[in-house]
Amino acid sequence: MTVIKEKLDYIICGGGASGLLLLKALKEDSYFSEKKILLIEKNLKNSNDRTWSFWEKSGGDFDELLAAKWDQATFIGPENKQAFCLEPYQYKMLRSSTFYKKYFPQPTGHNYPKTLQAQITEIKSENGECKVSTDKGTFTADMVFNSLFDPKVLVSQSKYPVLKQHFIGWFIKAPKGSFDPSKILFMDFNIPQYEQTRFLYILPQDDQHALVEYTLFSKELLEKKEYEDGIKNYLSKIGIKEYAIKEKEQGNIPMSCFPFNQSNTANLLHIGTAGGWTKASTGFTFMNTVRQVERLLCFLKTEQPLTAFHQKNRFWFYDLLLLDVLDKHNENGSELFIRMFAKNPPLRIFRFLDEKTSFGEELLILSSFSLKQIGWFLSAFFKRAF
Ligand SMILES: Cc1cc2nc3c(=O)[nH]c(=O)nc-3n(C[C@H](O)[C@H](O)[C@H](O)COP(=O)(O)OP(=O)(O)OC[C@H]3O[C@@H](n4cnc5c(N)ncnc54)[C@H](O)[C@@H]3O)c2cc1C
Repeated sequence: MTVIKEKLDYIICGGGASGLLLLKALKEDSYFSEKKILLIEKNLKNSNDRTWSFWEKSGGDFDELLAAKWDQATFIGPENKQAFCLEPYQYKMLRSSTFYKKYFPQPTGHNYPKTLQAQITEIKSENGECKVSTDKGTFTADMVFNSLFDPKVLVSQSKYPVLKQHFIGWFIKAPKGSFDPSKILFMDFNIPQYEQTRFLYILPQDDQHALVEYTLFSKELLEKKEYEDGIKNYLSKIGIKEYAIKEKEQGNIPMSCFPFNQSNTANLLHIGTAGGWTKASTGFTFMNTVRQVERLLCFLKTEQPLTAFHQKNRFWFYDLLLLDVLDKHNENGSELFIRMFAKNPPLRIFRFLDEKTSFGEELLILSSFSLKQIGWFLSAFFKRAF
């Protein structure tokens, strides 16, 4: 095995969303222009392996790459249908292939940052540096940022519930006029729940084309057929009987408040899903990663050990309580979301999910739940607190 002698400043393990967002930010900040940075990724990243959606104000960094964006959304429960304007936000859809094409650096010769296509086999942090072993050699750096997610860390503990946001999505082409391209369907809970928390999610790109996803927040994955039947039945219910499936995607995103930071060291930081940058209560990761990367760059300039990067806030605790409740009452999960949307302006909910609300607004959200639901949260709270 080759051992590269040159010591690097930073190694980024994995060139997916978090690895590339970090590399992009490092390249754009002149403070880091002399740093020797190596990105190691096993795949070529030339296919569309996922579609990211997120909300932010218009004029964001990725606007020119978007496949679509919307100013309005709908939320549906068995007894309410709410259409709302997202302003000042827009809901945005970014295809990963477009993102990789723009930000995945081609393997280069001598100049930094360098990219290496290799399979990482081990990452070891010791004696003030970090070693990354791969099938193409071993590399040493002052700091390593690791986005390789190992689900085993979640399975081998029971203190924190582990749910999943899991789904199958179809990109379909339907007859003209099938969709209203001005609004997304954020969540439709008016479907059989089968004792779990299930909803439909639709992102229409125009009046014929849309991404239609059958999604669950629950512990166990389903057979493929069950997701697909869910999509078929829903399309039939909304009167779309003829359509062509253009593409499919499948996701299984961990939802957990597990302290991913516990495997960080002074020289090794876990990033992306591996670092707990997935919003535990929703599975949304992309924008969270953008924000964490921004904070990380400021942090790196302070030259503190990477163990000091992690910050826990009250939103972590809210997520923990919600996951405790969803774990225990998964069959009633839809009621929580239905009640939250019925009793709050949707923008308050989006700001809450962005961790930007005041404590007063958070109390308003809590007080919008029914007495029975507040009881679930109180019981989760007392279990965690004592
Ligand atoms: C289908 C799907 C749809 C999603 N949609 C959304 C969404 O709409 N909004 C949202 O906010 N989040 C979404 N997510 C969740 C999250 O944003 C993504 O999973 C995101 O890609 C996570 O970024 P990451 O860097 O942590 O992991 P990844 O993007 O998976 O990057 C990890 C990288 O490490 C590489 N790698 C793994 N093992 C090795 C190895 N041994 N050696 C070398 N390289 C290795 C992988 O090839 C990969 O490129 C979605 C996830 C999926 C799967």
